Amino acid sequence: MSARRIDGKAAALSIRQRVAALVPAFEAKAGRAPGLATVLVGEDPASAVYVRSKNRATAEAGMASFAHNLPETISENELLQLVIDLNADERVDGILVQLPLPGQVDATRVIETIDPGKDVDGFHPVNAGRLATGLPALVPCTPFGCLYLLKAELGDLSGRDAVVIGRSNIVGKPMAQLLIGESATVTIAHSRTRDLPQVVRRADIIVAAVGRAEMVRGDWIKPGATVIDVGINRVPSDDGKGRLVGDVAFEEAAEVAAAITPVPGGVGPMTIAMLMRNTLVAAHRRAGLKDPEGL
Ligand code: NAP
Repeated sequence: MSARRIDGKAAALSIRQRVAALVPAFEAKAGRAPGLATVLVGEDPASAVYVRSKNRATAEAGMASFAHNLPETISENELLQLVIDLNADERVDGILVQLPLPGQVDATRVIETIDPGKDVDGFHPVNAGRLATGLPALVPCTPFGCLYLLKAELGDLSGRDAVVIGRSNIVGKPMAQLLIGESATVTIAHSRTRDLPQVVRRADIIVAAVGRAEMVRGDWIKPGATVIDVGINRVPSDDGKGRLVGDVAFEEAAEVAAAITPVPGGVGPMTIAMLMRNTLVAAHRRAGLKDPEGL
């Protein structure tokens, strides 16, 4: 293996420590701690783990955490009413509704009901539009974390060829917008892309956000490229517990790339770190304060 392993865990820890260090100054000015409300619907084990980690990270950063755990059977109107109440709650700066939601609830309606100023996931169309038009926005945490790692690794991204595989509203599209904002030349690939290996081969930067275990092979990668693997896929393992792999065949890719994120320990921890950062930023903006520096 020749590629540098990009340590998302260490980067995430440093962001979380910086957020925690900035909380007391906010409290001194605003007279309260920044607050994040999480909403978990149902008992999906993976979602429950994610939300628990988010609540723990919020408390560790010295911020107020408001956890709402709701039954799987909740009606859309009840959930919308909770979001409306959280919008009005002065203690709450960020609202995170964990996806996916059960079938009787329209996730789009829920997202559109969140106050864009409290939309720390950055999924509201107002924030997506602001990002696309280059205005200050709350930016989706996972692609924001990927951008942070890329800039830490490469510095200036201007003029570099980037290929983003995946066009979801959560990862692929905002990732592409962020890279355009950094003046990279961006291609967005998806399931209808013709000759994907050839498209990927021209990239200096590859961001894989597909959800297909080890789809991107080593011979798709230009020597010296930087690879960001967003995928989290559970595959069978000898011990029967299963193991996590990304969308990129790590060992093969690491032979060719200059730098690559591992799974786990790459992009994953960055998502929560950026959620903490977004919550602190949302708190400052809501309190009429300048964005905190050094984040
Ligand atoms: P998604 O909504 O399912 O989107 C997947 C994208 O991949 C779609 O745009 C799809 O294309 C494209 N795609 C599917 N098969 C393809 C193929 N054979 N060739 C090229 N493109 C293909 O998934 P997502 O929410 O963006 O998540 C992607 C992955 O990232 C998942 O593994 C997820 O678990 C992971 N993830 C990780 C984090 C984290 O914190 N690290 C956060 C979010 C997501 P079409 O649009 O044409 O269908």
